[in-house]
Amino acid sequence: MRSILSIAIAATLALASSAHPTPRSVGGVEHNCLASAIMSGDDFRSLRKRNNAAPTLPWSYEGSAGPAFWGSLNPNYTSCSSGKRQSPINFTPNEKISVDAPFELWYPQSFDEVEVENLGATVEVAVPADTAFLKRDNVKYSLVQFHVHTPSETSPHHPRPTLQHHVQDKHYPSEVHFVHRNPANPADLHVVGLFLNRGTPYAEGLTGWLDEWINNVPARKGEHTKVKDFPIGGAAKVLLSSGPFWQYEGSLTTPPCSEGVRWVVANKPLPVDETMLAAVDSLVPFSSRFTQKNQVA
Ligand SMILES: [Zn+2]
Repeated sequence: MRSILSIAIAATLALASSAHPTPRSVGGVEHNCLASAIMSGDDFRSLRKRNNAAPTLPWSYEGSAGPAFWGSLNPNYTSCSSGKRQSPINFTPNEKISVDAPFELWYPQSFDEVEVENLGATVEVAVPADTAFLKRDNVKYSLVQFHVHTPSETSPHHPRPTLQHHVQDKHYPSEVHFVHRNPANPADLHVVGLFLNRGTPYAEGLTGWLDEWINNVPARKGEHTKVKDFPIGGAAKVLLSSGPFWQYEGSLTTPPCSEGVRWVVANKPLPVDETMLAAVDSLVPFSSRFTQKNQVA
């Protein structure tokens, strides 16, 4: 897994280090967004700083380097086409769902300082190392970063009504991914997905993290900024109260599509107003991999 992870980091490097002349262009090819959910290489962005892997071939969300061709772009991407536990998926009654969250969240009320980044393919918040945790089955995962995917059917820039995860064929405007990593095994990832949907927003105390995040994204791609006293506590409350929770074993949603990723996706979307949806939509281009036929329900 270490070599696969390095490839993911390398792919991210290739994307993040490229100029983005337009919102849909990354690495010289048409591009839409990350990670889908899962993920894209962006999910590993925070890890690449610790590696010096060489860039690999670019991939994108559209055209000849789009999701349908990821598996043939690079020998290390074969899981994208031949994997049996790929993400994202369309949740149906066949998938496992639980009323209570299958994990505990140990997030602080606030982070002293975070780094808000405009990666072009997504916008992300990199959090301080080992300061927020997800505990499940005696494993203590550290929150590394969170980012958003915006297939968004609301923008003329996003003509295709497709999003990361679906719930019984329904999709939402955006999906946030909280990426946690097992410090003892960097390839062991646990991602929690939270949908955003138009509606009457919760009180500021629950959504301050989203406001502080989106309002502080640098306008120019490739830039980042530091934000002090970041109110992450509300995010934990929202996540834990947004069940029931879909659970499955999946993959990164971007090349190399590595499997073994533990997924939990909250069924109840976080209601946000049109202004917030428009802000997210303007910052993040289409970044959705089509849903996969995960063979292990
Ligand atoms: Zn993602």
